[in-house]
Amino acid sequence: MNFERFYENLNKFGKIGDQKEKGISRLAFSKEYYESIEMLDEYSRSKGFETKQDKVGNLFITYNPMNADKFLLIGSHMDTVKSGGLYDGAMGVIAALEVIESLKDNNITGDSGVIAVAFNAEEGSEMGGTFGSRTICNRNNLEDPELKNKISNYNLEVKDLEDCIINFNKIVGFLELHIEQGGVLENNKMDIGVVDGIVGITRYNITIKGEANHAGTTPMNLRNDPIRSLPEVINKLFGIASKYTHPFVMTIGDIRVKPGMYNIIPSEVEILIEVRDMLQDNIDEFFDKIKKFLENEIKDFDLVCNVEKPSVLLDKEYMEIVSKSCESLGYNYQVMSSGAGHDAKEISHLVPSSLIFVPSINGISHSPKEYTTPEHLKKGINVLYQSAISIIGGK
Ligand SMILES: [Zn+2]
Repeated sequence: MNFERFYENLNKFGKIGDQKEKGISRLAFSKEYYESIEMLDEYSRSKGFETKQDKVGNLFITYNPMNADKFLLIGSHMDTVKSGGLYDGAMGVIAALEVIESLKDNNITGDSGVIAVAFNAEEGSEMGGTFGSRTICNRNNLEDPELKNKISNYNLEVKDLEDCIINFNKIVGFLELHIEQGGVLENNKMDIGVVDGIVGITRYNITIKGEANHAGTTPMNLRNDPIRSLPEVINKLFGIASKYTHPFVMTIGDIRVKPGMYNIIPSEVEILIEVRDMLQDNIDEFFDKIKKFLENEIKDFDLVCNVEKPSVLLDKEYMEIVSKSCESLGYNYQVMSSGAGHDAKEISHLVPSSLIFVPSINGISHSPKEYTTPEHLKKGINVLYQSAISIIGGK
């Protein structure tokens, strides 16, 4: 491992789109995104690796000295959110690049080749998150007319997405190194998080109904004002949520009052709720309890489910390999779930996949303040490298 080279590359490729105090913006499909991919491509070819860019902007960098017909895939995403940081995504891509450079430097060969991958559009875009990895896994609904519409904005057709689909019979597994984006590892003074699963996400809207009327002429006792029930509903949501343990989380993302004028008693209040947990039963039970409460106390309401993405359990054998790598290197690690979706979630549906976390200082991400110490980055890459060698049977 050459940590100096990793750090130099992270700063070179990961800072494309840097707007200084406004952070790094390298949005999916943007000029900055493609600039970073082109530079990475050029750098990798100059180092003697074979590279390939697909039609949705994913980049594959191949190390295959033995001409193996199977590959271990390692990587993460190169796109960022608007005003993001240096580490979310890019760190995992550059770490994967460092792994294949080190394998090459040390003449390590195994039963499979290794492909470092930089995915496009992992962060939420109009196509939804993890678009690049979803596309190579053939996990888009290619019949969806809305998808057709959306990809046409990027000069893409369904045929182009089909061309990106990878034959996963040739892929032995996937490893992703990523920042934790939470404060658990730092809080527990851990070096590494070995992720056992990615939480499911369910989103509901509650609409409390009332009756719009004139705010000046309608006496207080003759109003049907849905705002009045709001504190009770919010208290109930937090009260029930507090009965569950981490990683269960409940967020009220927005409260929309309609029509939303000074001089009109609102006709309805809409509450946007997201719940995440590893156990779908908990999520379902939470919303059942909310529904019962609304039926008893609020009466005139709508409760509508908008999103239900199931949780995913990651491969036990790969977790074991990563844990053993931590042990052999003498690092502290803990098994934990991920509260955020990642490229590994898509790929885990097809091949054994592992997600490895390094601590985020103060749990901050999606911000210019995002930071992981060099010491933890080094440990993360060492674990990635060791795990890759174990998986390919490297010698
Ligand atoms: Zn990310």
